[in-house]
Amino acid sequence: DWPVHARFDGPIVLVGFGSIGRGVLPLLERHLAHDKAKFTIIAPEGDIRGLAKERGLNFIARALTPDNFREILTPLLTQGPGRGLIVNLSVDVSSVAMMDFARDVDAFYIDTVVEPWAGFYANPHASVAERSNYALRESLLDLRRRRPGGVTAVNCCGANPGMVSWLVKQALVNVAADLGIDAGAPAGREEWARLMQRVGVKGIHIAERDTQRAKSPRPRGIFVNTWSVEGFVGEGLQPAELGWGSHEKDLPPEGRRHETGCGAAIYLMRPGAGTRVRSWTPTPQAQYGFLITHNEAISISDYFTVRDGDKVAYRPTCHYAYHPCDDAVLSLDEMAGAQWQPQPEWRILDENEILDGIDELGVLIYGHGKNAYWYGSQLSIQEARTLAPYQNATGLQVTSAVLAGIVWMLENPDRGIVEADEMDYRRCLEVQRPYLGSVIGTYTDWTPLKDRGVLFPEDLDLDDPWQFKNVIVR
Ligand code: NAD
Repeated sequence: DWPVHARFDGPIVLVGFGSIGRGVLPLLERHLAHDKAKFTIIAPEGDIRGLAKERGLNFIARALTPDNFREILTPLLTQGPGRGLIVNLSVDVSSVAMMDFARDVDAFYIDTVVEPWAGFYANPHASVAERSNYALRESLLDLRRRRPGGVTAVNCCGANPGMVSWLVKQALVNVAADLGIDAGAPAGREEWARLMQRVGVKGIHIAERDTQRAKSPRPRGIFVNTWSVEGFVGEGLQPAELGWGSHEKDLPPEGRRHETGCGAAIYLMRPGAGTRVRSWTPTPQAQYGFLITHNEAISISDYFTVRDGDKVAYRPTCHYAYHPCDDAVLSLDEMAGAQWQPQPEWRILDENEILDGIDELGVLIYGHGKNAYWYGSQLSIQEARTLAPYQNATGLQVTSAVLAGIVWMLENPDRGIVEADEMDYRRCLEVQRPYLGSVIGTYTDWTPLKDRGVLFPEDLDLDDPWQFKNVIVR
């Protein structure tokens, strides 16, 4: 009884067939009427040919590079009828190059990160600022300025970045209602930003706890995670980055501002994988999370900025506070001990290798009249298994957001390059909802000052619990 949300007659190219690429397949088969004969998967690993064949799809075992991608993709996407669709769920394939190309061949495009070409994350010759997500996002905004409008290309539309931008809007509307503030129906960025200012939000944690655990204990020397190890290691070695709110009093000692661009975020002179922050999700309650850099930390802070002429009148702080599955925490610890040399072997736990646990992913919006509110999805591995094949709970939160993004894109075909913050959050969450398990909103009286300074003195800002100074773990 699953609804078919859209019909697409043109060619579809899925780039990358890892944990997310595989997981998106059954959702597309279920919700998007399309011609299988025009569906092609491209990924370097030849051993997945069988799965593609089993599902009646074409498969090309190639790695896309700056030199070959146009030649490989053009004939696939221009065979008609109508526009083509690129679903980029790979690592090491530049999102900006792909979007530029998609525009050339008038094809729809969607991805889940601003992915660079191979070599970007570990380039010792690039400055720390150049290796930031801020820089990657600015390169995307540059492309949008150079090539405005045209066929829709949705950037960063996974769970986070992606779904969490929609959750922020729903959470904001909920908190406004509970505070007796008439939210109205904000139309566009400025009205949303003003609403957040009126509600008095100081900041947002993308607050996640993944409790999924493997049936067999993690062997030493193997990086284990519930989604891309390459993706996680890459972003973990980028600088910690956060959208920098207008209520923050002091730049952290290792904090740096960018010299160009939107100015919404700062970066720290240390890797996200080595930076912890205090945060809160419903299951563990208070917890440490990693301040891994993510596109949404920057785009959300930018989106909700209120300007008064050239001056910033209001901006929320925003950053990720990620407690990955326990095996990934151990893997990171081992990697940090090896001075950030990644383990030579890695494993992504699939739905059959996981014993139990949930991925609890939401937004903690804080600093307003009701202190803090967590709103998000709690999806268990057991439920994920009953909903769709080829993925664990983490994967399903991501793939269902990709599905929602594709449906929205086909309903809004000529919007040019868009970020998740600019999409219709209600429509996207409606499409995604069946795959999110429990979606709950809950208030907490927790702040980063709770139980602090008891056994040892600490340098705290007691006047404002929500200063980043109180949040970062030193
Ligand atoms: P994965 O590591 O499981 O798979 C990556 C895939 O890309 C593999 O099939 C790999 O062979 C392929 N690939 C590598 N180099 C390629 C090339 N040059 N050309 C074509 N394909 C290539 O990763 P995953 O867990 O499936 O994640 C895929 C992407 O989605 C990553 O960029 C990841 O960061 C992103 N992601 C986003 C979210 C989100 O919520 N926004 C969540 C999870 C993953």
